[in-house]
Amino acid sequence: MSVQAISSRLPGRNAPQAIASRFDIEKLRADFPILHEVVNGRPLVYLDNAATSQKPESVIQAMVHYYRHDNANIHRGVHLLSQRATEEYEAGRGKVQAFLGAREAREIIFVRGATEAINMVAQTYGREHIGAGDEVLITTVEHHSNIVPWQILCQEKGATLCVAPINDRGELEIEEFERLLGPRTKMVSIAHVSNALGTINPVKWIVRLAHAMKVPVLVDGAQAVPHQPVDVRDLDCDFYVFSGHKLYGPTGIGALYGKAALLEEMPPYQGGGDMISSVTFEKTIYNKVPHKFEAGTPHIAGVIGLCAAIEYVSGVGIGAIGAHEHELLEYATEKVGELEGVRLVGTAREKAAVLSFVMDGIHPHDIGTILDQAGIAVRTGHHCAQPVMDRFGIPATVRASFGLYNTREEIDALVAGIQKVWEILG
Ligand code: PMP
Repeated sequence: MSVQAISSRLPGRNAPQAIASRFDIEKLRADFPILHEVVNGRPLVYLDNAATSQKPESVIQAMVHYYRHDNANIHRGVHLLSQRATEEYEAGRGKVQAFLGAREAREIIFVRGATEAINMVAQTYGREHIGAGDEVLITTVEHHSNIVPWQILCQEKGATLCVAPINDRGELEIEEFERLLGPRTKMVSIAHVSNALGTINPVKWIVRLAHAMKVPVLVDGAQAVPHQPVDVRDLDCDFYVFSGHKLYGPTGIGALYGKAALLEEMPPYQGGGDMISSVTFEKTIYNKVPHKFEAGTPHIAGVIGLCAAIEYVSGVGIGAIGAHEHELLEYATEKVGELEGVRLVGTAREKAAVLSFVMDGIHPHDIGTILDQAGIAVRTGHHCAQPVMDRFGIPATVRASFGLYNTREEIDALVAGIQKVWEILG
């Protein structure tokens, strides 16, 4: 079945049904084959969505369909399959453009994921515009993917990485951020939503503040796009990045949004096929944006799967998904928060879909192992955010993170699992 055929069976973004009737949880769960797996003899309770989300049948089938019927390399072929593959790939760009509210399709660059997108901006825009004595401003809650690329750049250029702190709730300390945003700041790079704590950062406000100082802003939206509507024009950010696999799409595909004027003047990231318009040994003329940034054969099936994922979440309604997850988060915060031996880590007033906690005297890995025996998948560790762990003086947390298909019953199972951990190890 083609992507179009699948999407035509789904209600559109503005379908008139009430959110409640659209959000038929059992019907939605039936769309995700893996949710019916049995783990350690128990029904799977998948609460590791911040690491990666599960894939609906429509995403799986869109990729299968591509490989079975349309597989060919793009942009270079005159034959029909190549034309079909190219059309689907470029239609995908339009779909991501609409999903993010970008002005033009060429403002969307396909990448492997959020990590590659941030590295690309650091190594292209960053290398051109950041020099000795300059500063890059990030925050304590960043994922390692939004720390290390800037660290590499700063080391190379003799620039400084400045870090705006967070308070005990895990919220950005606004005054400190303002104080650190100075005449030497050449770039702000900030998570929209923290993967370790779930904190939603006030990115629109940050963009306004940075722009007043003529500083561009990259927003790491890896944990935001699955949970809330994003409009890059409303945010007015200069770059926005996300990964498909956290949005119910495949791994190995994601997108970088960049304002056209910035992308135009940025040098290419990698050299190779597709990113050129002509090559001689003396001189290479680069292709136009966005192709200038897409060297080599891209993840065509990934783009097709990502589009099916965007169709899927748009059909359910991203607002309805966010509201459902928010209800789950409130329920879980109350139920888990009152358990003996548990301390929640990250209690920001604005939070999305993540519940991190520790238990007195019990290592998070032991908690994760016991929960796994009950079929409950959570993540334990530093969540690629070691500075967040350092901030709270802990080596690791247990993180339950929610997706559109999670239920209150699954949170009850988590609560029962934690109680069992306390009985055994507390
Ligand atoms: N930023 C954030 C906030 C994340 O949660 C993640 C993934 N955990 C990344 C960046 C990196 O995403 P990816 O590994 O898909 O490139």
